[in-house]
Amino acid sequence: MEPIVVNHPLVQTRLTVMRDETTDTEAFRRAMYDVSSFLAYEATRSLPVASCRVRTPLEETDGVVLSAPSPAVVSILRAGNGLLEGMLAAIPSASVGFLGMARNEETHQPEAYYAKLPDRMSERHVFLVDPMLATGGSACDALQHLLALEPLSVTFVCLVAAPEGVARLAKAYPNVGLVTAAIDRPLNENAYIVPGLGDAGDRLYGT
Ligand code: URA
Repeated sequence: MEPIVVNHPLVQTRLTVMRDETTDTEAFRRAMYDVSSFLAYEATRSLPVASCRVRTPLEETDGVVLSAPSPAVVSILRAGNGLLEGMLAAIPSASVGFLGMARNEETHQPEAYYAKLPDRMSERHVFLVDPMLATGGSACDALQHLLALEPLSVTFVCLVAAPEGVARLAKAYPNVGLVTAAIDRPLNENAYIVPGLGDAGDRLYGT
């Protein structure tokens, strides 16, 4: 699937705040919360809804609810948690899962150390969140876990993607959607996205 780059002023201004090296942890966290709810709005555009009836103060009329069971938001630990609250603000009924992937500093390869996912995954639309799609290693590793459960769909939601990560995801998982605020230049020699925003987890948690 073609990546969706959300080139919206409210997203791009928040992203600029996050890129700024002088932005402190509190402002960084707040901007990530905001931008993740905006990305959720775009990522959930084609979620199925079921009809219902609703009574306004004036009369009964047609309405919709999200089809059950609720979508699942799955966070890749730990930086993915920075996108979680904003996603849940946009999809309050969502179930939440966590996947822990450690990044080996030398090989840059992901290693899974934790997995806790909602039940009935095969009946859910899933939004997998991680702020940075760099090599695509941890994204592909997380997707391997998720797709084994045969969810209805998976959309990867991130803030900044590198061309390498986008290409790897598209090649390995052509049916997985990608929603991002930016596609930057190729990775540098330390596998950081350039210009990027640095280490998203460190900036989010002040480590
Ligand atoms: N992870 C990050 O937090 N930043 C990058 O630039 C690449 C991977």
